[in-house]
Amino acid sequence: MRKPMIAGNWKLHKTLEESSQLAAELVQQLSTINDRDIVIAPVFTALASVSKKITNSPIQLAAQNCYPAETGAFTGEVSPALLGDAGCHYIISGHSERRQLLNETNQFINQKVSATINAGLGAILCIGETLHERETHQMLEVLTSQIKEGLAGISTTQMTRVVIAYEPVWAIGTGVTAGDEQAQEAHAFIRGLLQGLYSQEVAEATRILYGGSVKPNNVDGLMAQTDIDGALVGGASLKAEDFIRIVKFES
Ligand code: PEP
Repeated sequence: MRKPMIAGNWKLHKTLEESSQLAAELVQQLSTINDRDIVIAPVFTALASVSKKITNSPIQLAAQNCYPAETGAFTGEVSPALLGDAGCHYIISGHSERRQLLNETNQFINQKVSATINAGLGAILCIGETLHERETHQMLEVLTSQIKEGLAGISTTQMTRVVIAYEPVWAIGTGVTAGDEQAQEAHAFIRGLLQGLYSQEVAEATRILYGGSVKPNNVDGLMAQTDIDGALVGGASLKAEDFIRIVKFES
């Protein structure tokens, strides 16, 4: 059985004080939950202070990005090991905002996934097609290369540290969610890819999260789908009440 995961991506939002306050509210409301993983990804500057707030709670910390090097002359960058040192359990790689705004390629994202795993952390690999790619029937091809290239060189054993997040770009921050069945179809396809690349065992064990305008009013339907193992939540993770309801999904 795959343990569900609900992850909140705070993106470029919240001051130190606001981050600590939201983390404290989540700790208070979610302290007894142990049947699902709860992850939050604040901005870099708030990682260490949020880490202190969530100590001894079921909430785990993620970074929104990393640089795939251990140390060296990489001005402005942060390594997976240092993110682990700041309290992170996971690092998100391949978010569509970074693919689009910063031209990140599958190859570069693959280096980050690999560096994350080598630092002993969990990698959340985001993939997803744009509206144009969907409308021009390139979706399966795009997902296939994002998975194959994003996971290049990642072994079966290392796959235990990988979580995939399927985030159709047209659904991120738009208020448009993929329908439950539409999302399920994409997730089943991705699981099939994992089976082909690795094995049935790896495919069945790997968590595939859905992301794209997940809200309190649509999470239950999404989580009821066979191949949807959780959610990566942007906008709705910024408000305690909404994120708590999403974490407490019923399916
Ligand atoms: C995201 O940024 O990963 C995301 C899914 O955002 P939103 O929930 O706001 O669509």
